[in-house]
Amino acid sequence: MTNQFFPSYTIGADAYDAVPGICGAFGKTAVIIGGEKSRAAAEPAIRKACEGKLEILGSFQYGENSGFEPAKALTEIPEVQQADMIFAVGGGRAVDTAKIAAEYMDKPVFTFPTLCSNCAPVTAVCVAYHPDGTFCQVWYRKRPAYHTFINTEVILHSPRDYFWAGIGDALSKQYEVLFSVRGDETVPYVRSLGAQMAGNCSDELLKYGEAAMEAFDKKELTEDFERVVQLVIITTGLVSNCLTGDYNSSVGHAIYNGHTEIPHDREYLHGAVVCYGTLVLLTLDKQYEARDRMLAFCRQLALPHKLADVGESVETAERLAEHASTKYDLDQSPYKITKDMLLKAILELEELSKDEK
Ligand SMILES: [Zn+2]
Repeated sequence: MTNQFFPSYTIGADAYDAVPGICGAFGKTAVIIGGEKSRAAAEPAIRKACEGKLEILGSFQYGENSGFEPAKALTEIPEVQQADMIFAVGGGRAVDTAKIAAEYMDKPVFTFPTLCSNCAPVTAVCVAYHPDGTFCQVWYRKRPAYHTFINTEVILHSPRDYFWAGIGDALSKQYEVLFSVRGDETVPYVRSLGAQMAGNCSDELLKYGEAAMEAFDKKELTEDFERVVQLVIITTGLVSNCLTGDYNSSVGHAIYNGHTEIPHDREYLHGAVVCYGTLVLLTLDKQYEARDRMLAFCRQLALPHKLADVGESVETAERLAEHASTKYDLDQSPYKITKDMLLKAILELEELSKDEK
C-alpha cells in the first residue's frame, strides 16, 4: 500500500477567515506554536478569525532551533496535550518543530507560514538541528500538514531577507531535481510526477522574481507576488512530497549543509547559501546557458553568486568543497561528484565575478 498526500492550502490577504470552516472538522480546540516574532505577526488575526468558533487554549514559543529536543519539550505542556489540533506558526524552524511535536502526539497540524522562505509548511519533511545549531537529520512525518493558510498580507510585511532568500532556495528545485533524476532508469509514477512539477519552477522564478521583489518592496499585493509566494512554498512543497530522500536535493543543498559545519563571521540564510550552491551545480554540470541566466538574475537581486557572498574566499574554498562532498544530498546523482569536482566548479564560477567588489 502506498499513501500519497499532497498539500492543500488557502492563500490571500483574508486566508485566515477559512480557518474555522476547514479546521472545525478536526475538533474544537487548538494551540498555537511558533516563534516570538511570527506569533506577534499572525496570532491576533488567527484569534480573531477563530472567535466563537474554535478555542485557542494557549500560545507557546517553539524553542530556539528546530529539532527533536524542543519538540519533546512541547509535548509536555498540558495545553498542548489537551488541544485537538496544533497550529504551527512561523518560518521553517518553528513549523518543523511543531510538525515533529504533532507527529509525536498524533495530533492534526495546520500551518501558518509567516515567511515565504521554504516549503516546510506543506511538506512531511522536517529538518532537525542539534541544540548547538549544526545539522542533525532530515526526518519524515507520515503526512504533511492537513492544510496551510498563507496570509499574503503577513508575508508582505515579513523581513525582506527571508523572502529574498526564499527565492534563492526555490531556484534550486528545478535544477537539483532534474539533475538527481537524470539517468534514473526505473522512475516510479510519483517520482516522475515530482520531476514534472519541478520542471519549470526555476524558469518561472527567473521570469517573475524581480517583479515580485519589487511588489514586496512597495508593499503591494500583486499577482506576480502571489505567484512567487506559491512557487516558493507550494511548487517546491509539491515536489518535496513526491520525491523523498536525496532526489530532492543535490549540490546546492550539499554546499549549504557543508557550510553550516564551518564557522563564519555571521549567519547566512539557508536560501542564500543554497542559491550560491545551485550556481556551483550548474557550473559543475556544464549547464552554462542556465547558469548564466541564473547568474544574471542573482546579480539583479543581489543574491549570492560568489564566495564572498557566503562568507568564504578562494583560500577557504577547498574546505567548503570538502564538507559539501560528504553530504547525502549528493548520493543520488547521474555521476559521482567528488571534492575536486566541487572545488573546480567553485573556482570556475568565481572567475565570472572576479571583478566585482
Ligand atoms: Zn532548501
